[in-house]
Amino acid sequence: MTEKLLDNVKYNYELIEERISEAAQKVGKSRENITFLAATKTVDVDTINYAISLGLKYIGENRVQELLSKYDGYNLNDASLQFIGHLQSNKVRQIIGKVDLIQSVDSVKLASEISRQSVKHSVNTDILIEVNIGGEENKALVELLDEIKDFDNISVKGLMSIPPICDSKQKILKFFDKMNNLFIDIKGKNIDNISMDILSMGMSADYYEAIISGANMVRVGSSLFGARNYNV
Ligand SMILES: *Cc1c(COP(=O)(O)O)cnc(C)c1O
Repeated sequence: MTEKLLDNVKYNYELIEERISEAAQKVGKSRENITFLAATKTVDVDTINYAISLGLKYIGENRVQELLSKYDGYNLNDASLQFIGHLQSNKVRQIIGKVDLIQSVDSVKLASEISRQSVKHSVNTDILIEVNIGGEENKALVELLDEIKDFDNISVKGLMSIPPICDSKQKILKFFDKMNNLFIDIKGKNIDNISMDILSMGMSADYYEAIISGANMVRVGSSLFGARNYNV
């Protein structure tokens, strides 16, 4: 990690902050209504800690092994550490109590294991349901929420989504709109023990558009830290 790299992170951080504020303003929200989470996969802890020192308040890791290897090195202060990657049920116990929120819950089985481990560790774990927009997402989502709403020690806080690879901005906007409509629809159902506060969508290429389409959490990696190097 060189001074030059950190200078880039600072420059990028300020630029992203500015664009988030601008997008928020466009839809009549204030900057505080939007959560900027940095996706930190492959990024070393010194760089992550530097970003936190700039004011970053949320970081998200993708892999359990990587999170554990960095865990003692994070200088979180009051920043929130979240899990945003695909999570296998048999690895849940390794991160319970370490992460504030798990964004990538896509099955009853996974929610059940998060609940079980949270009870065991006497903690409460916030989760988002990961939605893959495709066909019967609405019905399937309501069924999933119905099954997990009474699980102990977990709180559903909203939805997250990773869009399919789209070959045009227009398709991605359509996708974001669909997600936002789903979010509003589920929120309107007022399901017991389920709160729909967070809509996590939008990454480096499209976080501005995601906010315009209703996202209140964006997950930004490469635009902040530069291109990822998976070989380190
Ligand atoms: C890597 C990652 C991101 C950020 O991707 P960029 O395009 O680098 O901003 C966001 N969300 C998830 C789940 C990721 O794995």
